[in-house]
Amino acid sequence: MAISEISAAQVMTLVEQGRDAEAMAEVMLEMDSTSKLIPAQERPGLIAMALRSGREWAQELRKRYPEADTLALAQKLGVEVKHSDQEGKLGNIVLRSEYYDQPPQIVIYNSSVKALQEVIERTGHTDLLPPKLLVPIHVAHELFHHLENLKKDHLSQRYKVATLRIGRWRLIESGVRMLTEMGAQAFVQAWLNLNWYPFVLDRIEMAMGGNPPAPVDLLNELIKRPRWLNKINKKK
Ligand SMILES: [Zn+2]
Repeated sequence: MAISEISAAQVMTLVEQGRDAEAMAEVMLEMDSTSKLIPAQERPGLIAMALRSGREWAQELRKRYPEADTLALAQKLGVEVKHSDQEGKLGNIVLRSEYYDQPPQIVIYNSSVKALQEVIERTGHTDLLPPKLLVPIHVAHELFHHLENLKKDHLSQRYKVATLRIGRWRLIESGVRMLTEMGAQAFVQAWLNLNWYPFVLDRIEMAMGGNPPAPVDLLNELIKRPRWLNKINKKK
């Protein structure tokens, strides 16, 4: 896949757009495969719900662990953080981090995080997007997925769309995966006190054509990945 360069001005624009979390979350919601099934009048409420949940969960943890940095938080929540030199891949999507639930573990993929860091450094915007935040951002993102498990409250399941309907009967229903990701981004932003919504990082990658623009179906595959595959990954 061809990866194009991104200019300093483009990065600046994306960061500026990232100041508006609501607008960014709306872009994410539109990327969901179920998006067209969500009535326009319900979208603002869903966006607000996802952002509010992410922020509230971050505030709860900050209250409980006022001094903890992100790695200490992972430790307190019983989640092991590993760094891998393997390439994190899901289909043709390159992953920067991943969460496994049994036992709770976060894997940070060094090469893809470093690649993103180098892009930021090349554009000279390390003041806006400090490279030292990249690992905490990814750990915090994956911790949100852990919290959903702990709370047995998956944002993606709070709203159902009918993917198959006959008349007024909803025959097959599906959750909205992006609600979880929108909540995770809000959690990261609030936990790390960022003045931009971290979806900015994905948008930089998308702008470079490095990852396809609609990873949601593959994200769904990720949660359906069988346990035995997780175990093999861990042995590596
Ligand atoms: Zn995620």
